[in-house]
Amino acid sequence: MQSRHANALSRRSVLASMLATAALPVWAQSIPTNPDVVVIGAGSAGLSAARTLIAEGKSVVIVEAADRIGGRAYTESETFGVPFDHGAFNVMGPSSFPYLEMAQQWGFDLYRMNGIGEDVYVGNRRATADELGQYDVAWSTMRSGFSKAGREGLDISAADAMPDGFGDMMFAGLSETWLGSMDYGVDFDSLSVQDWWQFADTPSSYMVREGYGTIVKRMGEGLPVFVNTPATHVDWSGDGVAVETPEGTIRAKACVITVSTGVLAAGSIRFTPELPDWKQQAIGNLPMGLLAKVTLQFDGERFGLAQNKWLSYWVPNDTPAEACYFLTWPFGFDIMIGWVGGKFGWELSAAGRDAAVDFALGEVAKIVGEDARSLFVKGHLTGWAENPLTLGAYAAALPGHFNARAELARPVGDRLFFAGEAVATPYMTLCSGAYMTGEEVGRSVSRLLG
Ligand SMILES: Cc1cc2nc3c(=O)[nH]c(=O)nc-3n(C[C@H](O)[C@H](O)[C@H](O)COP(=O)(O)OP(=O)(O)OC[C@H]3O[C@@H](n4cnc5c(N)ncnc54)[C@H](O)[C@@H]3O)c2cc1C
Repeated sequence: MQSRHANALSRRSVLASMLATAALPVWAQSIPTNPDVVVIGAGSAGLSAARTLIAEGKSVVIVEAADRIGGRAYTESETFGVPFDHGAFNVMGPSSFPYLEMAQQWGFDLYRMNGIGEDVYVGNRRATADELGQYDVAWSTMRSGFSKAGREGLDISAADAMPDGFGDMMFAGLSETWLGSMDYGVDFDSLSVQDWWQFADTPSSYMVREGYGTIVKRMGEGLPVFVNTPATHVDWSGDGVAVETPEGTIRAKACVITVSTGVLAAGSIRFTPELPDWKQQAIGNLPMGLLAKVTLQFDGERFGLAQNKWLSYWVPNDTPAEACYFLTWPFGFDIMIGWVGGKFGWELSAAGRDAAVDFALGEVAKIVGEDARSLFVKGHLTGWAENPLTLGAYAAALPGHFNARAELARPVGDRLFFAGEAVATPYMTLCSGAYMTGEEVGRSVSRLLG
């Protein structure tokens, strides 16, 4: 009796659980343990790799350590009551690419950013026409230094590539701060000229009202992602791979790894056998730069600053400068999105939100006056520096090691594949670039599996 009852119960519960499984979203199901491919990371690259593999008829499991998909493309509306991107916000890339096409197809509100212009201040006044002319000269001198070194195939630091006299120009510090710490996330002494030279033109550059993270999230809907499921160990000693997670071990023929180089360098995923030396060197030569956003909300006052425009100001030339440059009132929202990067970005992030917001507000007050303080509502600092799932904003090749990007992209043992922004030459650092590497790796793995 005992066993019949138990059997009946277990048949019922199996049936119930099968029905439940069919109705449950993927994250509530147990992880399939034998897919063709396991993808680590549900950011732009991991999601696109999975889409590509599934389109090619392969079975895929994506494990994601965070409680959401999207990785460094993340939009939320709780903080400011309007869509706010913590990471990628500029839908940027070649003339046409999947995220731009998706945003257009879904009727998202895009605002073209190429040439939106910049308000430049010197102290509390706008730069004069003559000063703006000097800014143009500093910018073009800086670019000519990059171009000359790039054309000659030199992989030196941006600091070493600057022409004589650049450091004496009035706006050398401002130009260097924009291009180094706030674009690449590193200062000129740590920026490889080749990272700039090999970067492709980006004729498409748009802000999207709904948020870039919203596009990536929607692109990933319906994919077999298991969130809150960190990969802790990748064993590639056998024919395929065994990826350990707290939810169990997944065995697959191949593994696509899309975590940042910060995460790889930190060793939070163990490999057996260890990754070969050349791969570890590539990871070491692609440390994470930092771009952090310090965003300020005001109570509707615009301080005479235009909507959808950059705001910068003169800084001394003894860089790295302690500066925060802004995008003012995107889409008419009551926020100024501030950027800090490079060494100063790391320092300010370590100091914490209050210190960062205080600094950024102080910079705004210097420009528009102390009234800014009484009209200030709240501020926010993004947490990419200390987030253990990123440990920075994006990878920057060390001067002399631009080839590390190609080395990181090389598969290991025909079963470990690497995708993501760090290997996205010529769109490295970009969300669109990460997507393209996912597609490419997805196709390679599919071909290999036959
Ligand atoms: C402040 C900031 C501003 C930016 N601005 C722009 C911009 O305007 N335009 C643009 O194109 N790009 C921008 N970027 C860059 C862009 O966000 C990234 O290039 C892109 O999102 C990276 O995608 P990815 O798939 O390579 O990596 P990620 O998005 O980091 O995806 C990797 C995933 O792996 C997960 N993970 C980590 N460890 C584990 C583990 N052990 N197990 C399982 N999962 C794990 C992570 O949680 C993450 O979801 C910005 C980035 C930052 C930080």
